[in-house]
Amino acid sequence: MARFPLFGSPERSRRIAEADSVAVIGLGRFGHALAVELMNSGTEVLGIDIDSDHVQSLNGELTQVVRADSTKREVLHQLAIDEFDRVVVCIGDNVSASILTCSVLLSMNIPIIWAKAVDDDHGLILEQLGVHKVIYPEKDMGRRVAHLVRGAALDFIEIAPGYAMVKAPVPSSIQQVPLGETGLRKMYGVTIAAFQHDEVWSNADNQTLLHAGDTILVVGKTRDAESFAQLL
Ligand code: ATP
Repeated sequence: MARFPLFGSPERSRRIAEADSVAVIGLGRFGHALAVELMNSGTEVLGIDIDSDHVQSLNGELTQVVRADSTKREVLHQLAIDEFDRVVVCIGDNVSASILTCSVLLSMNIPIIWAKAVDDDHGLILEQLGVHKVIYPEKDMGRRVAHLVRGAALDFIEIAPGYAMVKAPVPSSIQQVPLGETGLRKMYGVTIAAFQHDEVWSNADNQTLLHAGDTILVVGKTRDAESFAQLL
């Protein structure tokens, strides 16, 4: 039986699991932001946290919020977590709670388990346990900000090691020339996937004409995309 009083019912959890839904375990800053963003994008969310303040702060914002200890198999079972296809474990500092929770979820054969790691050692244990997607929010954000601080890029996402998508201003050399005639793929090894003109984003093609003040989305090897984003 659950050690903590539950808000909501197991039947409700079961109904949520049947929809396009995700269970988010750990509603600290990271889990809170993730759960709210999922709700905003139309996904049903069951949120779980051991801390009643964190649960209260999201009451009414998620499909269901429950105060519970996720390291307890019977609690997760009672919440019908085994009926969810996707569960995200956002417990960081309490590494043993994170590991125990993931191991219970893995034994329940949840198809996709995401888990946040606070450092490489934590991440390695989660990977060795068999967690499907291990995320390193602080490390990834640090690397991302480093790229932003270094250059003129407005935003930067490394899609895979060595391959990135960079948001940048339009260099003057490719303004007012149809993209197909700029030779930028050959010259810089990058592709412009999309552009923003007058606040509106559109896909770019060979006929696209870019103007001063537009913003572009550049895709390519990290070094190439970054060098291109530095051009004035
Ligand atoms: P963040 O960096 O996301 O703010 P945090 O540093 O506040 O996280 P963490 O230790 O990473 O704290 O835990 C995230 C959340 O997980 C907290 O809200 C905490 O109450 C919750 N949590 C910790 N242990 C358990 C557990 N056994 N069951 C359910 N929730 C838990």
